[in-house]
Amino acid sequence: MPAPLRPAPRLAIVVPCYNEEEVFAYCQQELGALLYTMVQDQMVQPDSFLLFIDDGSRDTTWTQIKTACAEEICVQGLKLSRNEGHQSALLAGLATAAPQADAIVSIDADLQDDIHAIRRMVEAYRAGYDVVYGVRESRQSDTWFKRTSAEGFYRLMAAMGVRQVFNHADFRLLSQRAVEGLLRYTERNAYIRGLVPLVGFPSTEVRYARGVRTAGESKYPLHKMLALGMEGITSMTVTPLRLIAAGGLFICLLSLTATYYVLVRKFNGNTVAGWPSIILSIFFMGGVQMLSLGIIGEYIGKIYLETKQRPRFHVESFISQDEKAALLTP
Ligand code: UDP
Ligand code: MG
Repeated sequence: MPAPLRPAPRLAIVVPCYNEEEVFAYCQQELGALLYTMVQDQMVQPDSFLLFIDDGSRDTTWTQIKTACAEEICVQGLKLSRNEGHQSALLAGLATAAPQADAIVSIDADLQDDIHAIRRMVEAYRAGYDVVYGVRESRQSDTWFKRTSAEGFYRLMAAMGVRQVFNHADFRLLSQRAVEGLLRYTERNAYIRGLVPLVGFPSTEVRYARGVRTAGESKYPLHKMLALGMEGITSMTVTPLRLIAAGGLFICLLSLTATYYVLVRKFNGNTVAGWPSIILSIFFMGGVQMLSLGIIGEYIGKIYLETKQRPRFHVESFISQDEKAALLTP
C-alpha cells in the first residue's frame, strides 16, 4: 500500500442518542475499545474522542453519558435542550466536534453499522479522501418493508436528479473542511445525506454488512421515516413542481384536442350525447388539483419556515474533554 498522504488524524466519533439507555453502555464500550486499538496502532491521535449527543431523551441516556464522561477521558457529552430529531442532533455533534478534530465519523448508537469499517474509513482519509461514505452491502437485517421502501425512495430521488449515494445513511467520515462546508448550508431542516455530495471534495465508499439493532427499538417509526423522505425530496429538488406544470400542460392540450373533436362533430350535425363520464373527469381533475396544491403547499410551507431562520438546536450542556483534562492535570 502506498504511504499515507495525511498524518494520523485526531478522530472524533459522533453518536446521536435518543432514548438509547438500553444500548448506550454497549455502544460506549465497543467504540471506546475500537478507539483504543486505533490509538495503539497509531492510526489516530491519542487525544481522539467519542462525542455522544443526547437528543432530548426522556430516559437515563444523559445520566449514562455524564457517567461515561466522568470515567473516561476520551468521552465528551452534549445535551440538546429538547428532541430535535436525528439530523439536527447530528449537526449539533458535527458542529461541536469539527473545531477539535481532523476527521469526524458519525454513527448510530445502536451499532447496526459495522464499527470495524471505521478503520477503513480512516485509511481512506489518510489516503487523501475528505468524504468516506459507509455503504450497506446487504440489508438482510432490515425488515422487508424498510428495505423495499428505502430502495424505492433512492430510485425516486435518482429519477428526480438528486445525487445521493445508494444504501448510504448517516454512517460516514468527513474531514474537518468537509464538515465546515456542510455547516455552511444553513437550512433549518437539513437533509444531511443529500447535502454532503453537494459539498464536493474527493470522496469514496467503504462497504459493510448492516447488522440488527443491539437492543431497544427503532427510533424511526413510519411517520418519522416518511417525514425524512418528504424532507429529502422537498429540500433537494423542485422536480415535483415541474411535473405538476408538465401534467397541467398535458391535460390542457388533451382538452383542447377534445374540444376540437366535439366542435367538428357538432358542425357535422352530430350533437354529442350527454357524457356521464364528464362527472368522473371533473372528480378526477379535482383530485389532481388538490394533490398538486398540496405539493405546492409543502414547498410554500418550507419557504415560510426557512424565512424565519430559527435556530436548529440549543445546547443545554456540554462536557468537553479539555475541561476534564484541565481538572486532571495537577
Ligand atoms: N435519533 C436521534 N433523534 C431522534 C431519533 C433518532 O438522535 O429523534 C438517533 C438514534 O438514537 C440513533 C440514530 O438516530 O442513534 C438512528 O436511529 P435508529 O437506529 O432508531 O434508526 P433506524 O436504524 O431504525 O433507521
Ligand atoms: Mg438503527
